Amino acid sequence: MRALGERALEMVIHHFATRRDLPPATTITKSDAVARLHTDLPEQATPPEDLLDLLAREVFPNAFHADHPRFYAFVPSPTNFVSAVADFLVSGHNLFAGHWLASSAASQIELTVLEWLCRLCGMPTGSSGIFVSGGSMANLTALVTAREVKMGAHDARAVVYCSDQTHSSLFKALRVLGFARDQRRLIPTDATLRLSVPALRAAIEADLAAGRRPLCVVANAGTTNTGAIDPLHQVADLCAEHDVWMHVDGAYGAAAAFTPRGRALLEGMERADSITLDPHKWLFQPYELGCLLVRDPRHLVHAFHVGDDDHADYLADVARHVQADVNFYDRGIQLTRSAKAIKLWLSLRAFGLPAFREAIESGFLQAEHAERVLRASPSWEIVTPAQMGIITFRYRHPSLSPAAVDAVTARAVDRMRLEGQALIMSTMLGERPALRLCTIHPAGTLTDVERSLAQLLGFLEAEAALPQSPST
Ligand SMILES: *Cc1c(COP(=O)(O)O)cnc(C)c1O
Repeated sequence: MRALGERALEMVIHHFATRRDLPPATTITKSDAVARLHTDLPEQATPPEDLLDLLAREVFPNAFHADHPRFYAFVPSPTNFVSAVADFLVSGHNLFAGHWLASSAASQIELTVLEWLCRLCGMPTGSSGIFVSGGSMANLTALVTAREVKMGAHDARAVVYCSDQTHSSLFKALRVLGFARDQRRLIPTDATLRLSVPALRAAIEADLAAGRRPLCVVANAGTTNTGAIDPLHQVADLCAEHDVWMHVDGAYGAAAAFTPRGRALLEGMERADSITLDPHKWLFQPYELGCLLVRDPRHLVHAFHVGDDDHADYLADVARHVQADVNFYDRGIQLTRSAKAIKLWLSLRAFGLPAFREAIESGFLQAEHAERVLRASPSWEIVTPAQMGIITFRYRHPSLSPAAVDAVTARAVDRMRLEGQALIMSTMLGERPALRLCTIHPAGTLTDVERSLAQLLGFLEAEAALPQSPST
């Protein structure tokens, strides 16, 4: 055990010590992957040390490193070593965190961390929630809860409202839950990509007039695309007026509430019935860790508690404890679940809140620095300014058409991924792609931002200098 554990520890320390110097994104071909990794069923035992070597050589390097300081694509996951240690400890002790009887102490830790997160988000005393695998699961859990609390059963008249910038996981959740396409309204956004409240009001009123049942509005607290925050107070007012569940998808952005400026930007979020927050994004936790915060944890129990009539006979002894304590299997979908909160608890206590605030603030600062760099050059145009650690922009060229610029951009993005020191990708905004940086790694520096943009511009200029295809 000791030899194997020490070897694994060395590997992880080596990863943390060298991750800045490695390429941020490596992909191998399918045929390469098969050649290096595929084997027949293992009838014979292999020394685990050899397998660790194989993992170190073939698996861990050939990946996107979302914990790399210059990983600016998608949403980075800048992890910390303390939480990685917690993952090992939790799996080594294999705590069952499904109910109080089995994991009273770990359940208490989960309740405590949930209380901290609710407080930081400004939610009222008594708010709580549950840790889940990620934002997709949290959004699904929220929609089930909204439906069970507001309607008690599926109703084909129910309607869910979200903006055209809403994360795809919401649409997946609606599909899982059996919502038809005509049970969702995609509300347009304004010029700043925030949900249009007049359009939302009009949609709700039109549905009411048509005998539909407005169930839930999903508001964004930092969209994945641009960091846009929907007008949360106005959405909350509208939800209160029509008795509609307000869910805030803050999978990416809600963690910014740790900082004073994030808290100010997210003003109104605390009025939500439920909030999704992904600690495996801007709270520096290893995958998988998401959570759903709710104003009233009884709503979760109402949605997920399975009663005697549903034949959970083997849980009878456990259920007798439900009055005094919490059984997390009653707050969500999973029965067997790991003690997910321990890594966040350990790192929050070990580093303290000021370190987290500073680390989150660094995400804001890097994106703002990128904006200054981009504004200083005629080769760039800003599409959406730095907000919540995200900035989007385009290459500008005096003679190429927009279509040609887009084609050049796509090729430069590929070169950046294959040859570059940073991972920078694009997203669709409106009809056109835009380049995008998400700068939440606290080990990323302002110099990293400058050099990465300079390298990207070099690739763009080289591609723009080549003859362009006639179709563009
Ligand atoms: C990442 C993200 C999700 C999905 O979360 P996963 O943890 O990837 O399942 C949902 N909503 C938003 C806004 C996100 O950024």
